[in-house]
Order: sequence, then structure tokens, then C-alpha cells
Amino acid sequence: MTTSTESMKDLDTLVDSFLDYALSHGLTVRPGSFENPRKTFGEHAPITLFPSKFPATAFEEACQIQELYNELYAAISRDEDWLGSVMNELAKVDTFVGRLWKLHKEVKDEGITQPLSLGLFRSDYILHVSSPSELQSPVIKQVEFNTVAASFAGLATKVAEAHAYFQRSGSYEPIVSIPASSIAENHALDGLATGLAKAHQAYGVSDAKILFVVQHDERNIFDQRWLEYRLFEKFSDFCLGKSTDHRETSVSMEEKTRKLLLEASPTLQEISVVYLRAGYGPDDYSTEQDWQTRALLERSHAIKCPSIATQLAGTKKVQQVLAKEGIVERFIKSRTAVKRLCDTFAGLYPLDDSFSGIRGRELAFACPEFHVLKPQREGGGNNVYRRSIPEFLQRLPQAQWSAYILMELISAPVSENTLLRNGVPVHMAVIDEIGIYGAVLWNTQETVWNSGCCGYLVRTKSTDSQEGGVAAGYGCLSSLQRV
Ligand code: ADP
Ligand code: MG
Ligand code: MG
Repeated sequence: MTTSTESMKDLDTLVDSFLDYALSHGLTVRPGSFENPRKTFGEHAPITLFPSKFPATAFEEACQIQELYNELYAAISRDEDWLGSVMNELAKVDTFVGRLWKLHKEVKDEGITQPLSLGLFRSDYILHVSSPSELQSPVIKQVEFNTVAASFAGLATKVAEAHAYFQRSGSYEPIVSIPASSIAENHALDGLATGLAKAHQAYGVSDAKILFVVQHDERNIFDQRWLEYRLFEKFSDFCLGKSTDHRETSVSMEEKTRKLLLEASPTLQEISVVYLRAGYGPDDYSTEQDWQTRALLERSHAIKCPSIATQLAGTKKVQQVLAKEGIVERFIKSRTAVKRLCDTFAGLYPLDDSFSGIRGRELAFACPEFHVLKPQREGGGNNVYRRSIPEFLQRLPQAQWSAYILMELISAPVSENTLLRNGVPVHMAVIDEIGIYGAVLWNTQETVWNSGCCGYLVRTKSTDSQEGGVAAGYGCLSSLQRV
């Protein structure tokens, strides 16, 4: 990339056309604060001007193992004993997890009428380079596995289309050469819509609807809307969706059949699948009414995406326990499959006072600069990094340490990109985090349908930022250029 006056002009032209493309193709989010009560305006999402280079073999491996990850988390979700052993301990130190687990047990004791569960998952990875000699063949290490409200399938699909359009139209040519077909196609939107449609079909009532439960004042609303629209485009002959604000959801249940009913004029509407884009953190339960709504959804005959068990299977604590020797084998029988999964694990340590916990506690103080401390929360902005860890722990009563896990920091190779935020392009040193989507439907015994990998996400962030979340304001959406 050159920086002459001529090329600065080329860059300006590209940025202008790119922003026009973004706004006209719904690559948008709602502004941080808005006064218009109809909330009708949007701004471009934080995006990269160029696709992000990523080794083809590492990407291929991440895609291929998604089928195994889908299987693994479906199996964890239905293993009441194992999940219970982890959650009963966690519940003592994390009141939010505790309340969700208690609700799960109450519903279970009452008797679950719906054997099917849907997972729309996203497994996140960063390339790991532990030494200069590994620069040639970096490996993927898993950051986390998302089982609830895994977002950005809509905008990630759109940003891949945007980059492909600028590549094919020759618009990148004056600045950078990107080989034809090197940008990986992204079918995340189709993939998740297909998952919802499969679950709806399995529910077996064609005029029932899929309920999207969305956060009040969601900034990332267009990403969620894209999924609703894609569901309509592809499957409207047999399946429709309906969005509702999580604080205003008016649902009821027919006690005998446990059919979930949405108040819809002129009649009550039966719900086949509940897709949660809300309810993953304590802020979404500010009133008892919010808890009652969640309880009603969980008790109902509708297929949950996710159920409480599946949501809790996605906690960082579960990720840490899985990384202990011999645990994945409980869920996955093939030894080669187990190895492929375990090869993606970074170092993960408990902070309780069990034997291995002592090691976690030691590491947190002996070499905090190589670690990140994570609570059982989602949505970005919750972690404690590097040298802040010892001080943070010292201020926290020791009895609460086990609400956190310690994780080895994954050290990504650095590249460059131009990030676009609020219309301003900034060229900088960046690192990339990829996410692989997967959809899976299972019953109490086995997997009924597994999509394998059904799309991807790339988030690119400045090397100065520890966090990568787009919604939390740290990262930019990108696409993947195979190298
Ligand atoms: P959340 O569920 O809130 O998204 P994450 O575990 O994904 O929590 O952490 C948020 C961000 O922090 C990630 O997107 C990533 O950029 C960074 N991060 C988390 N864990 C690691 C790690 N082990 N190494 C490097 N960066 C990490
Ligand atoms: Mg998460
Ligand atoms: Mg994350």
C-alpha cells in the first residue's frame, strides 16, 4: 500500500463508495443515543475497508470441527448430571447463574414436555503464534463458545458481500490487489435461518410462528432483522417469524398442553420456536416480571433456542472444565475427534482451591501478563486483563474467586487494515478474531440435525485493544481473505 497524494485520493474515493454501499445495504446499527421516538435512523456498522487475511488451512480446520463442537455442546446440554455438577458449584458464587440453574431444575422437576432443543452457536478463535518459527503455520485457539444470542450472522454476511463487490468491481485495484475468489463466501444468514426453519418443521404445527425475543433498545437491531427477513425470503411458505421486545413480550401458556401463545390480534398465536437475542445477562432481568417471562418460555412446549441448560453450557466455567484431561471423552467417542477439539483449547484454569485451582491462583499472581480473568458473563467488556488481575483479585473476597476462570492469552499475528467507525477511516495495526456459526437440533437422546459450519464472522480490532466486541465498541466487522 502506498501513501502518495494520488493514492490518498483513491483511498478517499473508496471510503466514500464503501460507506454508501454500507448504508444502502443495511450494514447498519442504531446510533448510541437517539431522540427520535420511532428510532428510524441508523448509522454504518463498524467495518473494515479491506478483507482480513487469514491462513486457509486454519480457517478450513475451524469450519470442519464445527460439526464436532455442535455435537459436543448438544451432548453437554442434555447431560444433567455433568452440567449439574458444574452448575451447583458455580451457583454458590454467581447469583445470576444460580437463579437460572434453579429455574432449570424447577422446570425439569415439573416435567419437560418438549424433547427438542435448538442451538444456534458460534465458536470464536484467534490464531496463536507462540514462537517466531510458528509464524508459517499458526494454529487456531478457541476464545469462547457462544450458545446464547450469538449475533452478527446478518452483518457478517453483508460485509463479506460488500468486500466481494468491491473486489469484483475492481474498486480495490488502485490501492491493493485482492485475488478473485480469495474472499470466503459467507452463508451465515442462510445457515441460521435454516436452523430456525428446521426446528419449526420439527415442532410440527405449520401455522405456528417463531418468536424472536429482542433486547429493549437493541443497537444491533438490523443484524437481528436480517435474520427475520432471510427466514421470510427462504421459508415463508411454511414458517414465519415475529419479533418482540423482551420487556413487553405478552405471552401466555395453555396449562394443559403447555402451548406457548403470543397475544396477537385478532387471536392468540401459537409459538413453535423461541429464539432468544435477550436474557443472556443480569441486566435483562431488571424486574421479577422478566424472570417470570423467562420461566414461562422455559416451561412451555415451544422449542427453545437456547434452553437454560444450553445457555449455561456456554459459560466460561464449562469451557475451563472441558479443558481438563479426559473430560471431552465423556461426550465425544472418537479419539481423533477429541484430539482435534482439544488442540483448539488454550490454557484454562479454575480459581477455586482444588488442586488444579491452586495452579490457577498461582498463575494469576506469578505471571498475570500472559492471562485474562473472565467472569460468567456475555456481551463483551467484562474481562480483567494482564497486570490488572492481581489487584482485582486482592480486592475480591477469596470466597468469590471461583466465579472467575483464568485463561492464557492467545497471541495473534499482527496485520494491518483500515477500520471505519463513524465515517472515519483509520489505518492501523490489527489482530483478527474469527467465529464459526453452527446450527444443531437435538432431542433427549441424540442429535436430529447438525449443520456443521454454516457461516463465519471476522472481527478485527486494534492491537491496543484487549477486547474485540463490536457491539461493545472495540472491534470492526470484516470478511476473510484466504492466504
Ligand atoms: P464475551 O463472552 O464477553 O464476548 P470473550 O471471552 O469473548 O467474552 O472475551 C471478549 C474478548 O476478549 C474477545 O473477543 C477477545 O478479543 C478477548 N479475549 C478473550 N479471551 C482471550 C484470550 N484468551 N486471548 C486473547 N484475547 C482474548
Ligand atoms: Mg460470549
Ligand atoms: Mg466473545
